[in-house]
Amino acid sequence: MHLDALTKGYRLYLEHCQHSETEPVLDLTRAWTLVRFFDADILQLTKCCRCTSKFVAHKHDLQHNVVCGACQPPSRAGKTKKAAAARQEAQAAEAIEAAQIAQAA
Ligand SMILES: [Zn+2]
Repeated sequence: MHLDALTKGYRLYLEHCQHSETEPVLDLTRAWTLVRFFDADILQLTKCCRCTSKFVAHKHDLQHNVVCGACQPPSRAGKTKKAAAARQEAQAAEAIEAAQIAQAA
């Protein structure tokens, strides 16, 4: 394990997130775990059959006709986001209702 390479790589990742104005989803601990899994031959880079980019996948997963997460986001990703938004809306509505009740009293 090359700690120097890991910290440099992680710094680049953070810079990339900053430039593309996206929130980093990977913290340093998870990045370290990712590198260890690569070293242990648990993970590998698999080629997407649609966009031909390479993405992280399990070593023993199917290698042919696989599609990356960018081309086909997991269905629960959208649902979770939607559910979170709905929850926030419901909470906001509850807060407004509570405020109205408090005002009326
Ligand atoms: Zn793809």
